[in-house]
Amino acid sequence: MSNILVTGGAGFIGSHTCVELLNAGYEVIIVDNFSNSNPMILDRIEKITNRKVKSFNCDIRDENTLEKIFKENKIDAVIHFAGLKSVSESCQNPLLYFDNNIVGTINLCKIMQKFSVKKLVFSSSATVYGDTSLPPYNENMPTGSVSNPYGRTKYFIEKILEDLYKSDNKFSIIILRYFNPIGAHESGLIGESPSGIPNNLMPYITQVAIGKLDHLTVFGNDYDTKDGSCIRDYIHVVDLAKGHLKALSKIMSSQGLDVYNLGTGKGYSVFELIKEFEIASGKKINYIVGERRSGDLPCVYADTTKAEEDLGFKAKFDLRKMCEDSFRWQTKNINGFEDNITL
Ligand code: NAD
Ligand code: UDP
Repeated sequence: MSNILVTGGAGFIGSHTCVELLNAGYEVIIVDNFSNSNPMILDRIEKITNRKVKSFNCDIRDENTLEKIFKENKIDAVIHFAGLKSVSESCQNPLLYFDNNIVGTINLCKIMQKFSVKKLVFSSSATVYGDTSLPPYNENMPTGSVSNPYGRTKYFIEKILEDLYKSDNKFSIIILRYFNPIGAHESGLIGESPSGIPNNLMPYITQVAIGKLDHLTVFGNDYDTKDGSCIRDYIHVVDLAKGHLKALSKIMSSQGLDVYNLGTGKGYSVFELIKEFEIASGKKINYIVGERRSGDLPCVYADTTKAEEDLGFKAKFDLRKMCEDSFRWQTKNINGFEDNITL
């Protein structure tokens, strides 16, 4: 079976993808600097899969260490998750984001090319569609009208990968544009563990549910949507992880550069998500309605046709299951990985 190097494999989406890779029989090598994750996740991944994971504490910008990893390990393909992802932090410190995400990716690609590892799956985001088109977003719509440095790093990296492929068509690259991943592995052993107060909706809701935060603020109820709150395409992180295995199968057997949306194609409002979460958890979610958050689009959801037709990918889990699994993870890990509890 093939050996897959997973950058950012200790993170939220990376860890769930490593579980699916290991379950499918791949060998996994994680490269992560743990800037936004905890090494104890490695034990949890091994516990879920009953398989061993090779891992390296390495920043992808560290050319020497990364090169050594490529020299000493057989690597057939790379899934590249490593990156910083906070929109607000990227506005405060854009250079950090350009350096970490863009320079990190360039470094990774240089080393891949040097070692003739030319199969790559990259984590992009629906944010690259910006506000120039209306949903459902399909892969042929224009990209680039992004409103913050984080989004720009995704857009620039997509362009860098396109140019790389044009210059060397032995590469086989798939760019995946994620919509809104939530949920957690059913075991409750791995899940999203934001540091500090969460920026994203689901971790905020789960922390209100367990009483760690007092109430949620809904960012605006005066949008031109069915109930005035914003609509998003939430996808279970395990479905998202499985999408990476589909992408991997494709790059292993062909050359080219392709872009795919990973979403469910269905949009839910903030109020709908709160309601569904209350049913799934049996907890009341206190909320107030606040101001709109700058940069938020009213409605974002995917056209999933291309991923269905080309990759055979279709998300399986519904919103109820996403809420149940997010809540289970939060209940078992009140402070995420910060408590360092052995489960
Ligand atoms: P995450 O922060 O949980 O995981 C990212 C991992 O990368 C972390 O473990 C972090 O320590 C590591 N990392 C960061 N910079 C690194 C570096 N320079 N060298 C080595 N490791 C580094 O984030 P996630 O939610 O799992 O997201 C994974 C990828 O998917 C990111 O690129 C993110 O931008 C992208 N993405 C995420 C979402 C989302 O909503 N979660 C949506 C769209 C795209
Ligand atoms: N949201 C909210 N309150 C919060 C966090 C988010 O009302 O505390 C809303 C936000 O306006 C957006 C949706 O929830 O419409 C999803 O936001 P998130 O940050 O999770 O993902 P985004 O779509 O911005 O990437």
